[in-house]
Amino acid sequence: MMAAPGRAEAFPSRDHDHGHCIADALLRAEEICARKGARLTRIRRSVLAFVWESHAPVGAYGILERLNAEGGRSAPITVYRALDFLISCGLVHRLASLNAYTGCGVPGQPHGAHFLICTDCGAAAELHDPEIDRAILRGAEEAGFSVKAPVVEVQGQCPGCREGAAG
Ligand SMILES: [Zn+2]
Ligand SMILES: [Zn+2]
Ligand SMILES: [Zn+2]
Repeated sequence: MMAAPGRAEAFPSRDHDHGHCIADALLRAEEICARKGARLTRIRRSVLAFVWESHAPVGAYGILERLNAEGGRSAPITVYRALDFLISCGLVHRLASLNAYTGCGVPGQPHGAHFLICTDCGAAAELHDPEIDRAILRGAEEAGFSVKAPVVEVQGQCPGCREGAAG
């Protein structure tokens, strides 16, 4: 079955080359940090790599465990600081409803965080539709509301889980 154009990438297939996603994310992080004159320290780079370990969002303590499994003795504050840095660079989004973090596939361009979250497998896919931002800003303006974080988190079932449920 062919996916509709422009929608194919939202939830990558389960057999896609995820090593490529990770390599790509780290490369873009290096570029963005270089452009900002910020340093992608070893800790920041490791935290970003753990966030990108899959397309399912991860919690800060999950990241801390993975970090320390490699022989480190990092404190939670170290992970939170690295995450704050990565978020400020647009490399990572925080998903409030899950209290978890996920890598951004299009860092370096300002956008709200609009996500489809699978409640079966935990995968999250980012929507890239400027209309959503515009609608939020329009509604906020009419309400005299100043937007800090235009976060949208939609829960449901991803294509892979829907297929599993059907067959
Ligand atoms: Zn991937
Ligand atoms: Zn993003
Ligand atoms: Zn799923």
